[in-house]
Amino acid sequence: MSPRKSPSEVVKEINQAGGCSHPIRLRGEFINTNTGEVNQRPLMVACKDRRAVVCPSCSYLYKADAWILVSAGLIGGKGVPASVCEHPRLFLTLTAPSFGAVHARQADGSCRPRPQPPCPHGRSLQCQLRHDEKDLKVGSPLCDACFDYEGAILWNAEASRLWNRTLEQIRRRLAVCLAPGLEDNPQGFRLSYLKVAEFQRRGLVHFHVVLRLDGAGEAFSAPPSELTTEVLSLVIADVVREFSIITSHGEIAWGRQFDLSDASTLDRDDLRIAGYLAKYATKSTDGTKDFARSFQARSNITSLNGSSHLRQLALTAWDLALESEFENLNLRAHAHAFGHRGQLITKSRHYSTRFLDLRAARAAYMARQSTGDPMSGTFVFEGRGYDDPHTVEVAEFLHWLSLEAKKSAPRPEPTTGGDR
Ligand SMILES: [Zn+2]
Ligand SMILES: [Zn+2]
Ligand SMILES: [Zn+2]
Repeated sequence: MSPRKSPSEVVKEINQAGGCSHPIRLRGEFINTNTGEVNQRPLMVACKDRRAVVCPSCSYLYKADAWILVSAGLIGGKGVPASVCEHPRLFLTLTAPSFGAVHARQADGSCRPRPQPPCPHGRSLQCQLRHDEKDLKVGSPLCDACFDYEGAILWNAEASRLWNRTLEQIRRRLAVCLAPGLEDNPQGFRLSYLKVAEFQRRGLVHFHVVLRLDGAGEAFSAPPSELTTEVLSLVIADVVREFSIITSHGEIAWGRQFDLSDASTLDRDDLRIAGYLAKYATKSTDGTKDFARSFQARSNITSLNGSSHLRQLALTAWDLALESEFENLNLRAHAHAFGHRGQLITKSRHYSTRFLDLRAARAAYMARQSTGDPMSGTFVFEGRGYDDPHTVEVAEFLHWLSLEAKKSAPRPEPTTGGDR
């Protein structure tokens, strides 16, 4: 067992790992490229996990990057000109259809107060309770025998494909608005998007999407004048209501509830949207560690505490994976995400900058700040996490302290456009 580290050694170790709670441990040979001196020592690298429950510090950086990514596409910055503020921009929320009545928390705090006939299993579909925000009942079915678990998992598994096909259809319809008969060859405009997936309490994925219309020529050029915000809104609403895809297990479509709003009216609103989306992007499936990583065995799921509904969703995905017709859906690897296979945050190439570029810019900035000699080396993976589990608590405490310090610091006024 290694000797206990002093508090200053612990803090130094955490700083070297960029404040990360669960860094990756590498071992290798460092070469001082100025002096040629070679030495061997371990290196801690931040985990870069986006989920706040897994690593608060890395998640905080991810959230900041996600904010920049979303806002740059809406109001400019990081290479995107501020002239995009003149383009039609919309904020769209897409939901899944119903797979059975669930306990809810309506805007007025009620659940399902209206009288309903009982379900075929004789259970009441009415609930006059007012559920607390943290009540595990919210999102769980009023009758679990009525809830279509298989349908819910298969919808989640195909939701990204449904989005891609929906987008294709929107582009085709816009092309028709410009030049009837040219739907198979959309040209004259570019429809860019950034999409964040979030899980509802019932375990179904829903998408928040920012869409922006540009011209087809040079990046971020003005779109054709015929394609106004109104035209874009009408086309999107029609497609979302009508469109469906055929899968190997039936037809799937969007839920009746969707929201479409103009994101081009107020800059402050734009920034609020960026804040929401960045926050959604750092959530795990259910907001806890339970469903933050894929499961290695069925017993990993059955042994979980918490919501029996979420457990049942994960078990359904795990068990459906055994059926040959669902083999291509890779459900076992995605049982923790209730079958959803897509990335949590995706965007089209021309929307704005990339996470990769933001990280590279930060690394270059850190290198410029470093006063030591430049180093290079070769490393091998040694493991994850600190030697002493208490270091995790210290890392999370230091992260909390830095957030508190930021809260009390004076806030700069938000700026629009330009490079931030
Ligand atoms: Zn981390
Ligand atoms: Zn209820
Ligand atoms: Zn029932």
